Amino acid sequence: MFKNIIAPIQAWLLSQGRCVGCGTPLGSGKKVKGKDSTYKVTCRCGRIFIYDSKTKKYRRALFEEV
Ligand SMILES: [Zn+2]
Repeated sequence: MFKNIIAPIQAWLLSQGRCVGCGTPLGSGKKVKGKDSTYKVTCRCGRIFIYDSKTKKYRRALFEEV
């Protein structure tokens, strides 16, 4: 039940460019250039996200990307 509540909040945080775990703006995280137009962003809490500079959107990193 709680997952159904948390998922929309996480999606909203990501759409705001914020970490789903701690809410920190990912723009202040450590960015590493990845393949194509993507960047790997590591939040200060250790969560890893992928930023796509084409769509200007963040998403959670897939297991094989970490
Ligand atoms: Zn975080």
